[in-house]
Amino acid sequence: MTRKILVTSALPYANGAIHLGHLVEYIQTDIWVRFQKMRGNECWYVCADDTHGTPIMLRAEKEGITPEALIARVHEEHSRDFAGFHVAFDNYYTTHSDETRQCANEIYARLRQAGLIETRTIEQYYDPLKEMFLPDRFIKGECPKCGTADQYGDNCESCGAAYTPNELKNPYSAISGAKPELRQSEHYFFRLSDPRCQEFLRAWTQRLQSEAANKLQEWLGGEGENKLTDWDISRDAPYFGFEIPDAPGKYFYVWLDAPIGYMGSFKNLCAKRGLDFDEYWKPDSQAELYHFIGKDILYFHALFWPAELVNAGYRAPTNVFAHGFLTVDGAKMSKSRGTFITAESYLAQGLNPEWLRYYFAAKLSNTMEDLDLNLDDFIARVNSDLVGKFVNIASRSAGFIAKRFNGQLGTCDETLPAFRTIAERRAAIAELFEAREFGKAVREIMALTDLANQYVDSVKPWELAKQEGREAELHAACTNALNLFRQLAVLLKPVLPALADRIAAFLNVAPFAWDDAGSVLAAGHAIRAYEHLMTRVDKKQVDALVDANRASLAPAPAPAPQKHAEKQEKAAAAATAQAAVGDDPHIAIDDFMKVDLRIARIAEASHVEGADKLVRLVLDVGPLGTRQVFAGIKAAYDPAQLAGRLTVMVANLAPRKMKFGMSEGMVLAASDPDGQTPGIFLLSPDAGAQPGMRVK
Ligand SMILES: [Zn+2]
Repeated sequence: MTRKILVTSALPYANGAIHLGHLVEYIQTDIWVRFQKMRGNECWYVCADDTHGTPIMLRAEKEGITPEALIARVHEEHSRDFAGFHVAFDNYYTTHSDETRQCANEIYARLRQAGLIETRTIEQYYDPLKEMFLPDRFIKGECPKCGTADQYGDNCESCGAAYTPNELKNPYSAISGAKPELRQSEHYFFRLSDPRCQEFLRAWTQRLQSEAANKLQEWLGGEGENKLTDWDISRDAPYFGFEIPDAPGKYFYVWLDAPIGYMGSFKNLCAKRGLDFDEYWKPDSQAELYHFIGKDILYFHALFWPAELVNAGYRAPTNVFAHGFLTVDGAKMSKSRGTFITAESYLAQGLNPEWLRYYFAAKLSNTMEDLDLNLDDFIARVNSDLVGKFVNIASRSAGFIAKRFNGQLGTCDETLPAFRTIAERRAAIAELFEAREFGKAVREIMALTDLANQYVDSVKPWELAKQEGREAELHAACTNALNLFRQLAVLLKPVLPALADRIAAFLNVAPFAWDDAGSVLAAGHAIRAYEHLMTRVDKKQVDALVDANRASLAPAPAPAPQKHAEKQEKAAAAATAQAAVGDDPHIAIDDFMKVDLRIARIAEASHVEGADKLVRLVLDVGPLGTRQVFAGIKAAYDPAQLAGRLTVMVANLAPRKMKFGMSEGMVLAASDPDGQTPGIFLLSPDAGAQPGMRVK
């Protein structure tokens, strides 16, 4: 029976570039969707840019354009990046759409009707400098549970706790750095704590993968406990989003428009393709609905979203598939190390997107474990598996078919062990794809590829070709090899769709469907000329990619509004240091001479309002004039004791606009990166040095 399946990936926010961390999810989803389509199922893959909220509003303001113009541009960039990695959405839409607005209004009205919306006057942080209420993500402070510093206002990246911004310790505005004030405002809430939600979710969450179900059980609490809290679904103007129909000046907050963007995108697709929206979304729908998400948004997708849907008269998701995060070389992606790699830069460096698809697939499972992109392993595995094993089967046999047999295949011997094993393992491989155990599927397919290569090695077409009177054996050997190659290409197609299409074109057949792996090409079938299918990964390309992502930070990254200014400074300092060093441990004297180090006299030193680590310095650099610099030395130095002393500064660092003002250089200080010797030690010249003197 043909299954009807609707699949989504999480909506990327329209405030930044797609990077390899995002791609784990889109590639994972795309592989699964392609597999379903190859099986003949009616499977639709929709997504959209998440376009609303304060960060979009502020960024557009900063760029001097409208939010609409900003999200249109980002939509183009995101679409380009996804297409570049062969992520084939049936619809890639925007949440800033009539369809999404219509669904959001309807869901809100139904929830209100059901008595699940209530208003409360709450105290919320207000930025007195920026004159606006601060969204959760724009308030930072210490986690109320574990005490980790610099955490956002909604959840902790360190211990995973969810909380309200008012619970944060030592909060500050991430926009202006100001200490926020509590002010009253009327907000709209979805009553997730309602017994109807609790009861439904206790039953519904049992269907999730066990790790996720356990986590949700923790959040739900035991029988009789009520650990779910109501969710704030409104924000006050100024805001970029949908105004709540019966509440002027109030806007739907993310939970009441972003996931609804899945519905809006599908509704838009339905209009284009003549599909029946209700067939997929009505309460008794027989269609399957799956959301692929990162583990960080499990709470929202597995508790808030299903409760919102069923209480508004829609079906709940069939399942929610949560995955882990990407690490690169065993560590969190890092801008200073160049491992915060954008999709655009990967493609711009000329790396093949299918290399990454294959590597991710080889490491993906259906758990929430993190996935590590080890760059050396990436090169080794792609070169060994795809080029050395897989493509090699065709490159060792195709030429003889063209040159010696007029491009025509002979009779295939399906009794060979390699064919029999593929026939035996095919169903199991399909089950692994279905279960999102892509790593296991790839291992199985590579084991079959080894068998195919063993066959080619045993018959040695290149030797048969040199011997007279062995034409028939050569024809049979190359025919068998190319048929094995074709069956393996079918099995790999969900992972390597572009390569599979090129192989189908070369074999002169229609694009592969899953069942093609169970057949062979007829004797006499004419194939086309073989063209090289895939090149090896060159380590130099990967090095250049890392360099490009490191270099893109220096000299001055565009300040991201959600980042605390001080963090930017640290990142910039680290980036500058790293960029100068590169991979060669040595630098030329010319490189060193590019850094203009000068003796500077600290003319003024003062506290920075709202910054707990920064000191504002005015440096006298003699003939170069004075410079304002923000230095992260407050923990070690009292500004009052700094005025008058001499130090060393980098005088030709590109000026950076920070929240507190321009920073026009940096002062040099020592510190122990491991924290064994705590403290920060500002450099000083020996007596006699004068402000403005060059240090070299
Ligand atoms: Zn915490």
